[in-house]
Amino acid sequence: MKNIIFIAPPAAGKGTISDYLVKNYQYEHISTGDLLREEIASGSEFGQKLDVILKSGSLVDDETVIRLVNHKITSLSHQAFILDGFPRTLGQAKVLDEMFRELNIHNNVVIYLSVDLDTVLKRVTARVICPKCKRSYNLNNEKLKPIHKDTCDDCGYALIRRDDDNEETFKVRYESFIKNTKPILDFYQDKGMLKEIDATLPLEVIYDRIENEAKND
Ligand SMILES: [Zn+2]
Repeated sequence: MKNIIFIAPPAAGKGTISDYLVKNYQYEHISTGDLLREEIASGSEFGQKLDVILKSGSLVDDETVIRLVNHKITSLSHQAFILDGFPRTLGQAKVLDEMFRELNIHNNVVIYLSVDLDTVLKRVTARVICPKCKRSYNLNNEKLKPIHKDTCDDCGYALIRRDDDNEETFKVRYESFIKNTKPILDFYQDKGMLKEIDATLPLEVIYDRIENEAKND
């Protein structure tokens, strides 16, 4: 399978799909957030520097992130990977491109999971959680719905919406994602690497499409 650079707006289903690909195709899932946390947990000198930067509330610069990604990718022996959460800017996309050239990695596809704001907002606002036992429910899904509307099946507490699923906050996150991602998509489109998949399709169809796009030529 080809390496996948996976780009998707929040709540488009990227997590579920990544899990599926890891399970069925032995992909290595590379998330830059995880890489940063692992480096810090390792206690290395570099990790300690990162810890200071993150605790100060600053962003880690592109060079550092690419260094971590590079290290991770070169540690894999012929295993295909999914890059998740990277690149986030056009600058990062260009550095990544350079890195792939240096490492002689050309077997890549960019999958963009597209979904409009209204659809994704409906998904997000359908997620509710029990404040007592933290069990989560989805009001739009027959299998994940509570038996009695608004109360937890297990403890009878009134269900609440998760804080970060607040509609306004979500809209802002979604819109800033679209704005920041547009130049990256254009960049990959020009290179002929971009494959767009409609995230509102049934999951089985999405899996099929990705399997086709990521199949080795
Ligand atoms: Zn509960």
